[in-house]
Amino acid sequence: MRIHNFSAGPSALPAEVLEQAQAELLDFPFNGKSTGMSVMEISHRGKVYMAVAAEVERDLRELLAVPANYKVLFLQGGGKGEFSLIPLNLLRGKTSADYVDTGHWSVGAVQEARKYCTPNVIASSKDRDYVYVPPQAAWQPNADAAYRHICSNETIHGVEYQWTPQVDDDVPLVSDMSSNILSRVFDLSKFGCIYAGAQKNIGPSGVTVLIVREDLLGKPHPFTPSVFDYTQQAANEWMLNTPPTFGVYLAGLTFKWLKARGGVAGVEKINIEKSRLLYDCIDGSGGFYRNGVDKADRSRMNVPFFIRDDALHAAFVAEADAAGLAGLKGHRAIGGIRASLYNAVSLAAVQALVDFMNDFARRRG
Ligand code: PMP
Repeated sequence: MRIHNFSAGPSALPAEVLEQAQAELLDFPFNGKSTGMSVMEISHRGKVYMAVAAEVERDLRELLAVPANYKVLFLQGGGKGEFSLIPLNLLRGKTSADYVDTGHWSVGAVQEARKYCTPNVIASSKDRDYVYVPPQAAWQPNADAAYRHICSNETIHGVEYQWTPQVDDDVPLVSDMSSNILSRVFDLSKFGCIYAGAQKNIGPSGVTVLIVREDLLGKPHPFTPSVFDYTQQAANEWMLNTPPTFGVYLAGLTFKWLKARGGVAGVEKINIEKSRLLYDCIDGSGGFYRNGVDKADRSRMNVPFFIRDDALHAAFVAEADAAGLAGLKGHRAIGGIRASLYNAVSLAAVQALVDFMNDFARRRG
């Protein structure tokens, strides 16, 4: 029996995806014929895997409406790896980059960038413990920055951009979309580059999705390792080295699952409903539960909340676990509870959580 999994990542994958991977694990079917091998046992340069890879990339391009002048790469190194790889690949001879600080993961990106350049924090919501997104009017951008970096969804603080920043100069916008890619429709043409670790809305950990506009390629820092060089990986159709073949295959199954559900627009509708259900429960609890994020900036994907009596958090997590609701312990950086509502978390799962929360509040309030 599968439980309801609210983990922040690695997190729930669609059961249908896991079942298909299981069915194909020993004998991967290709063009309706048996190969007699697992997809993870075949060469990434052979005919079969090349076809798998091409289809996975095609499906992601379709789901995100990726314009033709962007490269889609499946790399390794995770979200944190990109904190280094973005400056290495995108400084293009410049010495500084702009960063908007909205929480834990923005801070992480700035810290890594400091090894390679001067990261200028052009706006921050630290003044109120990261409960909002600084409006663009309050940013102090630098025209000579190599790029302008945001984190579109702060997984720990539960703060998400509900808008896309306007780019009115030549400085490309870069976004860490690790925890909200494929959860909502957005216009990729507004960005120079986006990236995401796979282990939330895409597939298993070990795969990083990197999408970059072609004109930003060609000037990596000379120290950039070849396997992390976007230009070389783009020229080699992300097969400069052995890609994480099984993870990419699983990501491909998730993309098919998404397409069958009306694509990103289809799941976005459900994501809006799921997050509304949970926030309504919190806001309607008479102060028993509390989410302190400004309503306009609340994340649909990660909902951190606190119980009035701090001593009840451990009991909440333990009782929820016993009721088949897993992964609810808040991140150690801020404590409390956190429910992550990625695409594979169903509306029924969120309803089960809300029912549990109402019952818990009744018994302990
Ligand atoms: N950015 C964001 C927004 C994240 O949520 C995470 C991980 N939770 C990371 C970066 C780091 O990703 P990884 O663990 O893949 O390095």
